[in-house]
Amino acid sequence: MRLIVVGSGIVGASCAYAASGLGAEVVLVDAGKPGRATAAGAGIICPWSARVADPAWCTLAYAAAREYPALTARLDDLGETEVGYRQVGALALAADERDREQIRQALLALRAAAPEIGDVAEVSGADAQRLFPPLRADAAAVYIGGAARVDGRKLAAALVRAAVRQGAVVRDGEARLAFHEGRVVGITLDGELIEGDAVVAATGAWTRSFLRPAGLAVPVEAQRGQIMHIGLGGVDTSQWPVVLPGASGHYMLAFDDGRIVAGATRETGSGFDYRITPAGLAEILGQALAVAPGLADGTYLETRVGFRPMGPGLRPLLGPAPGLTGLVVATGLGATGLTMGPLAGSLAAQAALGLPPALDLEPFAPLP
Ligand SMILES: Cc1cc2nc3c(=O)[nH]c(=O)nc-3n(C[C@H](O)[C@H](O)[C@H](O)COP(=O)(O)OP(=O)(O)OC[C@H]3O[C@@H](n4cnc5c(N)ncnc54)[C@H](O)[C@@H]3O)c2cc1C
Repeated sequence: MRLIVVGSGIVGASCAYAASGLGAEVVLVDAGKPGRATAAGAGIICPWSARVADPAWCTLAYAAAREYPALTARLDDLGETEVGYRQVGALALAADERDREQIRQALLALRAAAPEIGDVAEVSGADAQRLFPPLRADAAAVYIGGAARVDGRKLAAALVRAAVRQGAVVRDGEARLAFHEGRVVGITLDGELIEGDAVVAATGAWTRSFLRPAGLAVPVEAQRGQIMHIGLGGVDTSQWPVVLPGASGHYMLAFDDGRIVAGATRETGSGFDYRITPAGLAEILGQALAVAPGLADGTYLETRVGFRPMGPGLRPLLGPAPGLTGLVVATGLGATGLTMGPLAGSLAAQAALGLPPALDLEPFAPLP
């Protein structure tokens, strides 16, 4: 069985890794579009604090978070040790005592069904600051032990290398879907036809334009996110928790090398406008410094821009496309795609290879 995976962000890379591991002959194609979400994503894995009520979303997101340690352990065994994954916990900041108790109760209520949430505990402002020193001293919070962070760039690159070791072939360029009489026959790349038994469209925010020639209107839009990296030279930030400040939707997290990531903007309707804007920078800095004034003296490193693939609701658009045999769509992961991407990619691989997916895909039908 020959499978063509278009897009090597977190979803396509995971799909190629899973499919090649299942014995498929895989061709993975990427156009290197500026604004690939996986290269900009913060990397927070903490779906339980999102306060999403949709059971289908929760089933997928929680399962994805639960499976991360096993995935990174498998990659580790393959020599892919640098993916930036660590269970560092998270601090969900509260507006006041009442808010903190509500956050704690909501998390405890989820924990019976999702024990991977780990420890849930009230944290004083002083303790929160001890865990994440740039924080304000009065930032009382709830600690969530199971929360983690991952470096999307490193993880996607590791998955691609692992897929290649399992026989996958990587090609660069803009793929066009090739189809005939109601079924896909492969893709064309610079005029060359690459035949395949199935195609997975892991094309992120670009899925609409990729599938338009086939008459499929997959409802996914680009939402720009600008996100800033700040250096705290010489400081060991490797164990610092993720900081989730609540209503604003802005957050902070740390990687091993004294790098703090703060963001992000959520610019619905942005289209593919790949720019860093003064308003974006002001929003990020305003939110970050209000919560963590200790970052003010850090070193500005860079701002990244990514286009989140947003569907009409929160649910990913994941599964076979009706009307075109052999096509599987895997997009719409929105603001939690680094969390759900590995599982979504592996489910797409199963669907494309005709295997029963490990999770019911019916709620995620990509087209009505
Ligand atoms: C600022 C920001 C912060 C985020 N933070 C988090 C977070 O903390 N936690 C979390 O879980 N998620 C987060 N996300 C969301 C997450 O990054 C995305 O949902 C996820 O990366 C989407 O992955 P993807 O593979 O679907 O798309 P992408 O990573 O965008 O990959 C799509 C790929 O398809 C390729 N492509 C498109 N069309 C074609 C074509 N015709 N031919 C060949 N290649 C093509 C592109 O070049 C691209 O590489 C964040 C996103 C942003 C922007």
